[in-house]
Amino acid sequence: MKNKMKPYTKSILILLLIIVSCLIFTRALSEGQESSAHREIFAMDTYMTLTAYGEKCEAALDEAEAFINRMDTTLSAQNEKSEIFKLNKEGVAFVSEDTLNIIKKACEISQETDGALDITIYPVVKEWGFFDDKLHVPSDEELSKLLLSVDYHNIEIADKAADGGLYKISLKNKAAVDPGAIAKGYTSEKVMDILKKYELTGAIVSLGGNIQCCGRRPDGSDFVCGITDPKRPDSRDSLLGTIKVSDKAIVTSGTYERFLIDDESGEKYHHIINPQTGLPAENEILSVTIVSKDGTVADALSTACFVMGREKAISFYQNSPYDFDMVIMTMDEQVYITNGLSDAFSSQYDYEIIEK
Ligand code: AMP
Ligand code: MG
Repeated sequence: MKNKMKPYTKSILILLLIIVSCLIFTRALSEGQESSAHREIFAMDTYMTLTAYGEKCEAALDEAEAFINRMDTTLSAQNEKSEIFKLNKEGVAFVSEDTLNIIKKACEISQETDGALDITIYPVVKEWGFFDDKLHVPSDEELSKLLLSVDYHNIEIADKAADGGLYKISLKNKAAVDPGAIAKGYTSEKVMDILKKYELTGAIVSLGGNIQCCGRRPDGSDFVCGITDPKRPDSRDSLLGTIKVSDKAIVTSGTYERFLIDDESGEKYHHIINPQTGLPAENEILSVTIVSKDGTVADALSTACFVMGREKAISFYQNSPYDFDMVIMTMDEQVYITNGLSDAFSSQYDYEIIEK
């Protein structure tokens, strides 16, 4: 006797088959080919890459990219429409919360680093020609005059928002600010906050070498970030080292990143200025990399520790209120890493581990 299936039983079976197929397909997707999105953009005067893994990766990167472009126009010291440009021109401006946050954090870190970081360095950086890529070596007299306004104490910040939700910042003694040492770190940190809203499994951004990541790679492993070898910055094969990380920022300041060359003498002048002298910071350091959960702190400290020099930077690490790790390479190719990186760092160079 033939066993005939009732029509509704047949429908239920077909429905079940569809559900099971969908489940298998979704599983295969999540195991094998997780959605990913990648962008390469130019903003804040540098090349940036953004990579995100997860279902909503495209939407996540759309919002991140829009934020970066907004920060570019808000913070650029050269863009006439920016808040920083207005502040420098007028000596007073009502600024957004992001600009307030950056300036506040910069002043706090200036205080903690004895002025090694000082965003009122603007007139000196401009005079050297770093904003228009035209070298002008300032005379001693020029520098002493410019240095009169370089002091983060010249920045006054209102405690409360004025009407309209903006914050009043004033500059004394003709001071002007250059947020270049901290702006990309702050932006990458905020980008991570944006990306985290999209339930990604992982993301990594590099804003001109300011790297920040969250979560993991699609295969579940940590991200591995290469640190440029300052002795061979153009070589892809030779790295100072690599660091395995998740949920951290990795920011490097180095002489090779931006410099101007005197055509006649061949002399090289790099862009990290000692606020005491107005001259490119001259010590044994070739590059400093800071690793921290806080992208803003990482960026600010990479610049500050570079200015300090090896000994002071190490003593700052040992006594600092900030939670960070550090890799230093000096001119004689000595590499120093702090204790917290001992499991995460690998290098072709011998290195010394600095204890806290
Ligand atoms: P970074 O690449 O993060 O080390 O930042 C360097 C940039 O910050 C330079 O290109 C200047 O625009 C600015 N800068 C240079 N020296 C200092 C300093 N001592 N404190 C604050 N900003 C600085
Ligand atoms: Mg910096």
